[in-house]
Amino acid sequence: MSDVRNVIIIGSGPAGYTAALYTARASLKPLVFEGAVTAGGALMNTTEVENFPGFQDGIMGPELMDNMRAQAERFGAELVPDDVVAVDLTGDIKTVTDTAGTVHKAKAVIVTTGSQHRKLGLPNEDALSGRGVSWCATCDGFFFKDQDIAVIGGGDTAMEEATFLSRFAKSVTIVHRRDTLRASKAMQERAFADPKISFVWDSEVAEVQGDQKLSGLKLRNVKTGELSDLAVTGLFIAIGHDPRTELFKGQLELDEEGYLKVDAPSTRTNITGVFGAGDVVDHTYRQAITAAGTGCSAALDAERFLAALA
Ligand code: FAD
Repeated sequence: MSDVRNVIIIGSGPAGYTAALYTARASLKPLVFEGAVTAGGALMNTTEVENFPGFQDGIMGPELMDNMRAQAERFGAELVPDDVVAVDLTGDIKTVTDTAGTVHKAKAVIVTTGSQHRKLGLPNEDALSGRGVSWCATCDGFFFKDQDIAVIGGGDTAMEEATFLSRFAKSVTIVHRRDTLRASKAMQERAFADPKISFVWDSEVAEVQGDQKLSGLKLRNVKTGELSDLAVTGLFIAIGHDPRTELFKGQLELDEEGYLKVDAPSTRTNITGVFGAGDVVDHTYRQAITAAGTGCSAALDAERFLAALA
């Protein structure tokens, strides 16, 4: 078994790398598990990021994450492109097991494992991500000025995305599997009152069409089986997110949707010495800058916790 570290960080998006930068600069020599497949987090799968402050001409998602990684490494963060497969967070010394079965020990752990947006599960969906297909209106809406857009979903997020997008778009079509919405009354009314928004009920996406860019959707009516075409150049999928908290079930307190609970505005979880930051905690904002911000808070919380132990 390895020596006891000050802090282990699980996850490598904006939250994880920011926590790594701050704890490294505080001479805590953090060990960061970046994930085996998606080191760098959600922004590794996108093209241009125009809303991360400090980059007036925008920056490509992977480049932004490479910069964050290098900045953390420069101050001594130890970065491991591997998954954590088991944790025991309950004692004063926490243990974290990697895929090779090696057990790593630390006095503090910061959880920044992010969340996974739900996908439609259609062949072209990933290939056209960033090329017309998006999961975030706040991030990408601006790219769709005067275009015809479809929003998939019937909950609050879908209504919020649709009303936000209608500011830029020529038209917004909400495609929903049922004939009623799950969204709150207020959100529904706002969407119904918007002259740019129309609805296709009882329907799901059968096909995402396009070669290099999205060119349209094939829709299927779930009651009749009838197929129809919807010509759109933007597709926003708003059917929910799944926080990556499986590993922590039974140890860390989760809310009813599986997000990590913290004692906000701090990043403290229900276990002393364990902190949570970024999209694994956040239902609401889900932005790179907010993830980085809470990653900073988690690092400062961990730093103070470790200082009090000394
Ligand atoms: P993530 O970025 O999701 O990172 C979590 C990391 O933890 C991943 O690398 C994952 O592999 C790792 N991990 C998970 N489990 C384990 C484990 N067991 N062991 C080790 N590692 C693990 N936001 C903006 O502000 N602007 C944008 O333009 C923008 N565009 C986006 C485009 C797309 C396509 C998507 C999906 C999101 C976009 N976002 C954007 C949102 C933004 O990417 C997220 O809010 C942000 O990345 C969340 O950061 P995070 O650090 O909490 O989690």
